[in-house]
Amino acid sequence: PASYLNRRVVVLGLARSGVSVAKVFHQLGAEVVVNDKKERELCPEADELTALGISVLCGYHPDDLITADTALLIKNPGIPYSAPPVQQAEQLGVEVITEVEAAYWLSPAPIIGITGSNGKTTTTTWIGELLSAAGLKPIVAGNIGRPLCEAALEATADQWIVAELSSFQLKGTKAFRPRVALLLNIAETHLDYHGGMEDYIGSKAKLFDNQTAEDIAVVNWDDPVCRSISDRIHARLLPFSLYERLGTGVFVEPPFIAGLDQADAAAETRRQIIYRQANGVQTTILPVDELGIPGRHNAANALAAIAACLAAGAAPEQLIEPLQQFRGVEHRLEFVREVNGVKYYNDSKATNPVATTMSVRSLAAPIVLIAGGLDRGSDYMELLPLFRERLKGLVALGETREKLAHVAELAGLAKAEIVEPDEDAESVLQQAVRQAAALADPGDIVLLSPACASWDMFASYEQRGRIFKDSAHTL
Ligand code: ADP
Repeated sequence: PASYLNRRVVVLGLARSGVSVAKVFHQLGAEVVVNDKKERELCPEADELTALGISVLCGYHPDDLITADTALLIKNPGIPYSAPPVQQAEQLGVEVITEVEAAYWLSPAPIIGITGSNGKTTTTTWIGELLSAAGLKPIVAGNIGRPLCEAALEATADQWIVAELSSFQLKGTKAFRPRVALLLNIAETHLDYHGGMEDYIGSKAKLFDNQTAEDIAVVNWDDPVCRSISDRIHARLLPFSLYERLGTGVFVEPPFIAGLDQADAAAETRRQIIYRQANGVQTTILPVDELGIPGRHNAANALAAIAACLAAGAAPEQLIEPLQQFRGVEHRLEFVREVNGVKYYNDSKATNPVATTMSVRSLAAPIVLIAGGLDRGSDYMELLPLFRERLKGLVALGETREKLAHVAELAGLAKAEIVEPDEDAESVLQQAVRQAAALADPGDIVLLSPACASWDMFASYEQRGRIFKDSAHTL
């Protein structure tokens, strides 16, 4: 870091990570220049940086942005390498990096890097809590909210940075080398954003590229795509599985039977989470049904989190209590309250049918589902078996209300209702909660898991989730 004192450092692209990286290098004594192609009115973050004495140039890329004495160009991962300032930097031999790479350079603390298509935020948050309980002083950052650079500047060598990483962020890394790298899963649903499987898998696999035999790679052994890239891994492999007895790794014993869902599986013998080391020593950690959050996908997230924490030096017995106590992340199958024997769950983050299916299948009791939202043109027929097998009732709202009610009708649901739209979106959701409460009997669950994005009625899924929770609390 000292080498940036009074050196010119250019940050390309504002946004949250750009602001953070600019501040960090300013703090290190660099002469920071921030540039964004957007007009100044569209860069609300600019004022904050200007107030600190950082120069911010908006609306164009100046020709002389990258000078021969520029020490570093830090670009937003979304800016292509073909952008003129990046080309200029490459011609002049100026190093080009991204915020995640900068954080790696700066951090005195080792990094646990978490990526995957689904479950990143849940697993990252859980690892943070597990490591805290084990006294390992984690700093949780990255895609989850707090910029990684900020965490890197604050961290000391005896801490761990727990970093949630999107494939987007990983694409721009060079030397980035997490001490513990964790790959949760690779789902095909994300492929359209990346122009092909190769590219998407490639950016996820980048997490492992710079690791050596001193590092650890935690990999989902149940996911064939994750498994297929294990030959690219140089680190010590710590696989995890719900379905196999692994030689070394964290797994469930006896294994789950593929194809059965949670409710059926629970009827079988109590399954234990086991950690088996390379020397054959085997430790039983806890029964799966004692985990703080339900669902087979969360059991997989737990195995991943356990493996990462063991790799970071936590002892198995330190993990038991925080595994039991974890209540999940807000808006992800979040338990809200119980009233008149009915449990209310907020799963507002479920913005597509796959996520809703996962959540509904995680809950054993009869469910009254509140769903609907932005219409992206799907007919939601994929929800038909789920509605038929698992729902007691449906309350539909938002743009997709008629479509979902139609699926419910085909599924033969006796209790399906629609809440008509109103300018006051809050009152529509409140009404939906009251109708769902009326359809539910003691022992049932009322679940908000919309299968749709929120923007037809709300500013965000967070806002939708908070209104749901408030409504449930006023019942
Ligand atoms: P991400 O940060 O990757 O978007 P989250 O932890 O926020 O993931 O979870 C979002 C949703 O994804 C959850 O509500 C759940 O429906 C689903 N999910 C969580 N973990 C998994 C998993 N391991 N496999 C498949 N789906 C998952």
